[in-house]
Amino acid sequence: MKKREIERIHEKLISQPKLVWDQIDKREKERVFNLDKEYQDFLNTAKTEREAVTAISGIALANRFSSSHSSSDPIRMMKTFQEKSIALSVSGKEPIDEGVNLIVSHLDSPRLDLKQNPLYEEVDLAFMKTHYYGGIKKFQWLTRPLAIHGRVVRSDGSSLDIIVGEDDADPVFTVADVLPHLAKKVQYDKKVSDAFVGEKLNVMVGSLPFGDKDTKDRFKLAILTLLNEKFGLVEEDLISAELEVVPAGKARDVGWDRGLTGAYGHDGRSCVFTSLKAMIDIKDPQKTALVLFVDKEEIGSDGATGAKSRFLESFLADLLIAHGKEPLYHEIQKILMNSRAISADGNGALDPDFQDVHEKRNAARLGYGVCLAKFTGSGGKYGANDANAEYVGWLRNLFNQKKVVWQTGELGKVDEGGGGTVAKFLATYGMQIVDCGPPVLSMHSPFEIAHKGDIYMTYKGYRAFLES
Ligand code: MN
Repeated sequence: MKKREIERIHEKLISQPKLVWDQIDKREKERVFNLDKEYQDFLNTAKTEREAVTAISGIALANRFSSSHSSSDPIRMMKTFQEKSIALSVSGKEPIDEGVNLIVSHLDSPRLDLKQNPLYEEVDLAFMKTHYYGGIKKFQWLTRPLAIHGRVVRSDGSSLDIIVGEDDADPVFTVADVLPHLAKKVQYDKKVSDAFVGEKLNVMVGSLPFGDKDTKDRFKLAILTLLNEKFGLVEEDLISAELEVVPAGKARDVGWDRGLTGAYGHDGRSCVFTSLKAMIDIKDPQKTALVLFVDKEEIGSDGATGAKSRFLESFLADLLIAHGKEPLYHEIQKILMNSRAISADGNGALDPDFQDVHEKRNAARLGYGVCLAKFTGSGGKYGANDANAEYVGWLRNLFNQKKVVWQTGELGKVDEGGGGTVAKFLATYGMQIVDCGPPVLSMHSPFEIAHKGDIYMTYKGYRAFLES
């Protein structure tokens, strides 16, 4: 057999992941970098679930989505719920009971939440207690600048939104760590999981005293005085608050060549941004296109604003009414059972320094496009949705037709660990659903890494899906 013939057979039969940069021309490369600029702006304005909902609804309103239920134009609808989840839809040519194309992503990211009684003083310094949210490696949150974002509800019922630590003129906060000289017994000799203690993730918030040396609690009081002057707060107001401690600072280009983006919150918000952008850009979809943004994924999708809530059903009821149909339960069920969905979430990228936690043939790699993960879960696929072959087949063909660079992926070697997404909760409705999102390096850390080519292909893939 001739060498060229062997090459042809090789090309035809063997599945080969493709590097995004090898698959696109100069014009599309430009689009990759332009999209990333928009994405970084989004990341900087949407660091919490509430901020993300505000950003999304602002963008949706500017793009003719309407939240009015009596809207005479049911084509572009939106609905927010408890300011922590939001859904958008664009009506398709087919009747809605034939199902929708749905992308679900999550707005929350791992962080440190302030406890309800956070403020105390110790060795003449003021601190705030935290309870970490989601799966973090605790040591990554030490000795770095942190910002506080969130909402406080005061005793008169009025609420206040706070962001401190992002503006160059703002102070930042931090969690201190023991010096290496004295860390032998308390850290070095221990297992990592024992060496870093959740209850020690105390955020340093002050150092100036109030009153004179006879004043009780003078460091704590100094902070409360400041909070009272600046925001009208008293200590009890912190009980009715959701204050989130997140890494301070903006998303940044990473590398001499600027091909990567480093930021807090890629996991979740890379899919939020790309599905939102796809939704804004689609024209005349065949089926009704729907994007759903939920909260609480990082803590199991529980709660009224998580993926286990009934918000999607409620939104579909609104949609039926807007189309002049009765929102009967079995109608809603029918739509859901006929629907196709993407559980849009970051996948763990093959780590260059820890390649042995992955199984290379099935691990997603940075730069090889959006990742299609048939299953997630852990230890014998436990807790996985495990998508149907027919559905994976349909989606991969769509991606191939639309020149979306994609790859397959799984979350680590068998029995190495694992994790879940919202897929299994949406699957209970009977819809076809599969996990699909960009690979992310240093996932759940304060500075996660994504590849600009992957973010672009995620957008391109979601758009193809919503238009199908
Ligand atoms: Mn996550």
